[in-house]
Amino acid sequence: MDPKSKCLRGIPKVDECISLLRSIESLTAPDTIIKSAIQEVTAKEREKILTSAECNELTTEQWIARFVSAIKKKISPHLKHVFNGTGVVIHTNLGRSVLPEQTTDQLVQAGGYYSNLEFNLDTGQRGSRYSLVEDIICDLTGAEAALVVNNNAAAVLISLDTLAKGHEVIVSRGQLVEIGGSFRIPDVMAKSGATLVEVGATNRTHLRDYENALTENTAMLLRVHTSNFRIIGFTSDVSATEMVELGRRHGIATMEDLGSGSLVDFSKYGFPKEPTVQEIVKAGVDVVTFSGDKLLGGPQAGIIVGTKEIIGKIKKNPLNRALRIDKFTLAALESVLREYYDMDKAIESLPTLRMLTSSPDIVKKRGRSLLRRIKSKVTNVCEIQLISTVSRVGGGALPEHNIKSWALAFSPKTMRLSDFEKGLRKLATPVIGRMENDKFLLDMRTIQDKEVSALSELLVHFFEDESDRD
Ligand SMILES: *Cc1c(COP(=O)(O)O)cnc(C)c1O
Repeated sequence: MDPKSKCLRGIPKVDECISLLRSIESLTAPDTIIKSAIQEVTAKEREKILTSAECNELTTEQWIARFVSAIKKKISPHLKHVFNGTGVVIHTNLGRSVLPEQTTDQLVQAGGYYSNLEFNLDTGQRGSRYSLVEDIICDLTGAEAALVVNNNAAAVLISLDTLAKGHEVIVSRGQLVEIGGSFRIPDVMAKSGATLVEVGATNRTHLRDYENALTENTAMLLRVHTSNFRIIGFTSDVSATEMVELGRRHGIATMEDLGSGSLVDFSKYGFPKEPTVQEIVKAGVDVVTFSGDKLLGGPQAGIIVGTKEIIGKIKKNPLNRALRIDKFTLAALESVLREYYDMDKAIESLPTLRMLTSSPDIVKKRGRSLLRRIKSKVTNVCEIQLISTVSRVGGGALPEHNIKSWALAFSPKTMRLSDFEKGLRKLATPVIGRMENDKFLLDMRTIQDKEVSALSELLVHFFEDESDRD
């Protein structure tokens, strides 16, 4: 028999494996999971045998090890806590904003019990889920009315669909942005049925450009916050105030997609000046949209604030039902928004804001504490230093602003850096960092104090396993 056929014949039968795996005491998984894991593993091996030039028959132990690892992967939650050592605070791939503990308590309440989600406790009649946060958003932003939808992309879509479908919307060429995940202003515009009218040049747009583009069919003037990039040099654009003045003169609605929209003026904390939501509302823009989980530090949501008349129209749009938020989002959003009644408190209590504004000294102290816990235990397998570095805001906000920070830099002695990175990424609680100058960096800005002890234990175990292997 040729080696390939021999290998193929060596693939165990599903039924035989099931009874074998059932007898492993430490493994308690339903048969459906065991079966599907066996099928996955055997299919992968068969594919490997068929496509590679040579093949090695696996021993029974090797088969069992593969099955057990596949079963374990299937029975453990796929969505889980990871340590974010990337230094990117609003990391879209790692879940953007981290919620404060009092908010996670609210989530448990909202999920584990009935609630007054759409029940008015004063009248005993049906209520509106939005009313639970609308007054808070109005208090904080100074807007007349507010509405919350699934995310900011949805907020932009429903606003354009309501106010500009079948009409023209004027946007500066410098603001036709694409943010991650294929959200492009021109595409969202097309989906909403509005026609995009581009004005100005990439670097400069003047008020007269908007004015010259006005037609009978113009429904809106739109400003989009330029996320992810910045045009520098010979630039100019039209301010919210100028846009509002032009819109009012011609009876045309104005809108601003603020993207990461913040309620706090971060320039007080050493960041470049960005307009706050309150400032844009005060400038008189009719509709303003922003994300719940970027600089706001809350759950995924799209917040729309504006005039009573316009928000009223958007609420009646049938899309609103399709884009509505669930009770978990509402619970988290209400809890996070309440923190903003005291801005100084919000900076401390909301993890996203705290991470952004922590002084380098605080970050360094956290780094020292982690280093102290692990250093003596790992010196034979890895060199570790506490080095200064820079963190990023992320989430498309303040794209080239560097935040001074500190990181633990690991130089493994016994393994390749890429294997080291992969090893940490595969841990029960994965540790995600970044590679820089042939070192693996854990930026301590995005590690929370409450994570330091668990992270140190995990790292020590990881290094012990490494030194055992030699
Ligand atoms: C992030 C962003 C969006 C999309 O917001 P999501 O909440 O991710 O849907 C839209 N516009 C701008 C300018 C953004 O920065």
